[in-house]
Amino acid sequence: MVDSVTTINSDGSRYFLYPADARGRFSLARRLSAYGLIVVYLLLPWIPVGGHPAVFIDIAERRFHFLGYTLAAQDTWLLFFGVSGLGFALFFLTALFGRLWCGWACPQTVFLDHVFRRIERWLEGDAVARRALQLAPMGPSKFARRAVKHLLYFFASLLITHLFLAYFVSLPELWLFMRAAPGEHWAAFLFVFIAAGLLYFNFAWFREQLCIVICPYGRLQSALTDDHTLVIGYDARRGEPRGRAGTPAAGACIACNRCVQVCPTGIDIRHGLQLECIGCAACIDACDEVMTKIHRPLGLVRYDSLAGLTGGVTRWVRPRTILYGGLLLLGVIVATFAFSSVQPANFLIYRMSGAAYFVGAEEVRDQFMVRIVNKRPTPATFTVSLEGLPAGMRQTGFLAPVTLAAQEELVSPLILLIDRKYYHGAFKFTVKVADAARTFSLARSVEFMGPDANLLTEDDHEKHRHR
Ligand code: SF4
Ligand code: SF4
Repeated sequence: MVDSVTTINSDGSRYFLYPADARGRFSLARRLSAYGLIVVYLLLPWIPVGGHPAVFIDIAERRFHFLGYTLAAQDTWLLFFGVSGLGFALFFLTALFGRLWCGWACPQTVFLDHVFRRIERWLEGDAVARRALQLAPMGPSKFARRAVKHLLYFFASLLITHLFLAYFVSLPELWLFMRAAPGEHWAAFLFVFIAAGLLYFNFAWFREQLCIVICPYGRLQSALTDDHTLVIGYDARRGEPRGRAGTPAAGACIACNRCVQVCPTGIDIRHGLQLECIGCAACIDACDEVMTKIHRPLGLVRYDSLAGLTGGVTRWVRPRTILYGGLLLLGVIVATFAFSSVQPANFLIYRMSGAAYFVGAEEVRDQFMVRIVNKRPTPATFTVSLEGLPAGMRQTGFLAPVTLAAQEELVSPLILLIDRKYYHGAFKFTVKVADAARTFSLARSVEFMGPDANLLTEDDHEKHRHR
């Protein structure tokens, strides 16, 4: 039973960890997948798909580009499906596989383990050498190594910040920011400086504390997992009682503490499942290496469920996984329907500010503004047609098709007039916008407003009488 955080000393000060390197199949697989993920994380905004970066949250133009698909600001409601879908997927996968995300794919783990700790190991040596260097008095050699390490840390943080900025700022603009003096782009410069500073602080010092103290996903674990969730655990039935190899009646664990030395959060997996465990599998490799050396079966520490570790059978299908899976499936169906209903253009018609209608000597007039947004990455021609109009109507605006450039927005007036003699009161009509190729059309029902027709007729008779 552990009742305190291993990285906090009893006086409240930080106990800095120097995790040893683990070697084995999971460490190798994690390293390879981490390099792949780093490439994906950093290159996504640089790879063009359909004329735009693969993933690009275009703040300036208020658009979101995702693998060739473009959402305009008006489609923001669709992000609800994206966010809730991610949430349900995380619930479902966590209920099945525990903290697979934390140990294998979270950018915090990926960059800390495979960039910053690599730099540290390269400059300061293995865990033993790093701890010795920490305890050594400051001298020219220690100062030089520390200075180079922190410079590299800051450079890496700066690089990551710039590359991530490409998710929000277009590449030409980013290139402009990078070459211009800070004074020309104060806001961007401050953002980059603060973000790089936070990254540096996190990766150079805060490290595993982010997972232990801050990350909400870590806190959610206990609510999302149960005895049948796949976790990394210690087989106490096989391992206990601990004892050196050859000790009579001793279990398989030789109490070498290797599993603790490699743990990036400093915990002892033999104490059972703990909130600090990020599921990195380093302790599996460490223990397997020991078991190989002493010729005992592997898997004393392994991926298994708590049920499996205590001799039971892991149940993959259970109420929790059915519920999370069902919600995920429902979300996917609704999201597919919602996304497929997105049209390649947006169209809005609204009344001009001022009076709702105007009554002239000869006619009644309603004034509208029509807004069309071409969401396609290519130019498109649109026709605006009016249906359900009574006889005697005239229009100005949108008499001919309009061509909009890629992502262009047009806001233009549409004036409708009806001769007084044809006016019989307010009526509804339909405005349709279609592209020239007729691949889609959008329709809006609009009301033509005007005075009471009887009042208008009386007014006309009155005028005749006075002539
Ligand atoms: S207990 Fe094992 S899996 Fe969990 S964080 Fe430590 S080394 Fe990684
Ligand atoms: S590495 Fe394996 S044998 Fe060594 S202490 Fe940990 S569980 Fe026991």
